[in-house]
Amino acid sequence: KNGSDNGGVPGRVRVAVRLRPRNGEEMVADMDFADCVELQPELKRLKLRKNNWDCETYQFDEILTETASQKRVYEVVAKPVVESVLEGYNGTVMAYGQTGTGKTFTLGRLGEEDTADRGIMVRAMEDILANVSSVDDTVTVSYLQLYMETVQDLLAPEKDNIAIVEDPKTGDVSVPSATHVELQDQRSFVRLLQAGEANRFAANTKLNTESSRSHAILLVNVRKVVKPKTGDRELIVLNENGGSPQVGKNIRAPTVRKSKLLIVDLAGSERVDKSGSEGHTLEEAKSINLSLTALGKCINALAENSPHVPIRDSKLTRMLRDSFGGTARTSLIVTIGPSPRHRGETASTIMFGQRAM
Ligand code: ADP
Ligand code: MG
Repeated sequence: KNGSDNGGVPGRVRVAVRLRPRNGEEMVADMDFADCVELQPELKRLKLRKNNWDCETYQFDEILTETASQKRVYEVVAKPVVESVLEGYNGTVMAYGQTGTGKTFTLGRLGEEDTADRGIMVRAMEDILANVSSVDDTVTVSYLQLYMETVQDLLAPEKDNIAIVEDPKTGDVSVPSATHVELQDQRSFVRLLQAGEANRFAANTKLNTESSRSHAILLVNVRKVVKPKTGDRELIVLNENGGSPQVGKNIRAPTVRKSKLLIVDLAGSERVDKSGSEGHTLEEAKSINLSLTALGKCINALAENSPHVPIRDSKLTRMLRDSFGGTARTSLIVTIGPSPRHRGETASTIMFGQRAM
């Protein structure tokens, strides 16, 4: 199963690049300057301008231009992951990029005014709820923030140091002490996201930091009751005739299938000037660096089919352990801005995504 339609490469992270349109300020201030990138979506290629006459070309799984709709972005980046979660496999969708390039726009928009704006979190939940049975199946949601190697519960702010638990036998990762809200409908999910966002803002104000300095992790647990197919029943009849009704009963019983989806809005990838920062800001920068570097190493290890994926190096990668590589399906959306002024950051963002290819 693994890798069968994952671009043919087992376990590899699929990478899409999304360019956001120029904002008002960039349209005015950079009027005389070309964008720092040129997209060739049909060829799935991106050209990064080095100077006026030279550019570097990079290949990705998908190129999403500044006119790509939220719907298209969902279909390309997240839908295959959601489908495989509904089939019982774990999956991860992550957004990586400099602050202000559209990570939260891509993942977290609620689209309450215009449903066309809905981001990946809301669309994924719609797909999941539409494909589970409200009688037999359960969908629970947790919403966490990972800040300076500490996991906080965005649905219960008093829980500010949640343990990540790994089952030594199965390798399953869980956060049993986090709030798990059982979802019935889409409206309660949107309210949950809003409450989480408000708590995130309050917690970060108290910590004197910004949300771009932490990772936000939406965890969706799907528990599906799978009834045996007709084929299984025929097998049971044969077994019963063969005088082994006990076995028949076991096969007939419905089985429970558990899987999970992680949607991760990563901390801003921009390099904080370490020489100019000290104390808290420096510790914060080091911590972001630690987790994003660890993530990059894991993505790289998967791409190279290396047996050593250094998943234990940070809490971020420990959270992803069972939803990353192996039988899990992983999608990374790399967000970039067009401004020639941020060419350096854009280049390093592109390089991060390129390590997965
Ligand atoms: P990030 O989460 O990476 O810091 P945001 O998602 O907050 O960035 O986006 C920064 C700003 O750019 C927001 O005002 C957002 O509405 C706008 N923006 C981002 N991506 C797009 C896009 N594809 N189309 C239109 N506006 C966008
Ligand atoms: Mg953001």
